[in-house]
Amino acid sequence: MSHWEEHPHRRLNPLTGEWVLVSPQRTARPWLGQVDETTDTPQQAYNPECYLCPGNSRAGGHRNPVYSGTFSFPNDYPALLASVPDFSIDESGLLVAQAERGICRVLCFSPRHDLTLARMSVEEIRCVVDSWCAQYQELRSVPFIRHVEIFENRGALMGASNPHPHCQIWASEAIPNEIRKEGLAQRQYRKDRNSCLLCDYLRLERSGARLVYENEGFAAVVPFWAVWPFETLLVSKGHVATINQLESDSRMHLSEAMKQITTRYDNLFETPFPYTMGFHQQPVEEEDGQAWHLHAHFYPPLLRSATVRKFMVGYELLAMPQRDITPEAAAERLRSVPAVHYRDR
Ligand SMILES: [Zn+2]
Ligand SMILES: [Zn+2]
Ligand SMILES: [Zn+2]
Repeated sequence: MSHWEEHPHRRLNPLTGEWVLVSPQRTARPWLGQVDETTDTPQQAYNPECYLCPGNSRAGGHRNPVYSGTFSFPNDYPALLASVPDFSIDESGLLVAQAERGICRVLCFSPRHDLTLARMSVEEIRCVVDSWCAQYQELRSVPFIRHVEIFENRGALMGASNPHPHCQIWASEAIPNEIRKEGLAQRQYRKDRNSCLLCDYLRLERSGARLVYENEGFAAVVPFWAVWPFETLLVSKGHVATINQLESDSRMHLSEAMKQITTRYDNLFETPFPYTMGFHQQPVEEEDGQAWHLHAHFYPPLLRSATVRKFMVGYELLAMPQRDITPEAAAERLRSVPAVHYRDR
């Protein structure tokens, strides 16, 4: 059928096996919901109250060094602990729990309180990428660690407690839900087709309808199955399983791609665009080392302006996620905004 994408339909996410409902006919409906305050308040380069700024003190009597590049430290309020009493319960398969060990760290991207990835230079972002690789390598070498999640929560809308540019790194003993689902799907695809799911998907995206940005090493698309209005998937063009397998050139390409995606997000509504971003990579000691393909997801909640956000409620919480604007229309908008940040023009 021609123009099928103009009618209500559902799309499959092959990485998770889950579906999203697409309702393009709804984009015309009036908006009477919440309007959030915009948050584009200028920050200062140094904030004496910030627990991430160089030289400042943190919880528990720790003091940050006067760092000049990136800086990592153990999370002062970790969700996971390296040492916990071992236990496992299973009552009739209904009451099931296990001890879980892990390590949580914070990584500051820059000593500057007022910068974001979008406004850092590609060289500065390259230092962040190198720190991600070093942290990944170090944490995966800890004997009980099986998965390392590197993620950034940006903006008060996403629950980020501090605007200082930073990310978190949670390394865990068990493989988390999303990684387990995506690992299963990639292994099954490899078994069925003797090929890589994301390598094949990138080939299909060459037509360009959902492409936002690409360079030699990485491509950013609004995935065919995107749930969030301006969700993007950043995929390595080379078939690598983990971030520290990226060669020097590819790390530079990743840095350029990070700057481009975050700049385009900020330019969309000329506001610091909130998002959760994180990498998905092969867990430690995966049996089939061929199946996993390194990528990052950007999940931004903004819908049609700087002040209207999407909520996962109602049908979405109870049944399945749903979106109005099509992934193709979202990609078109992200492609058409300037490549230079609005604050730097
Ligand atoms: Zn700060
Ligand atoms: Zn691949
Ligand atoms: Zn993923």
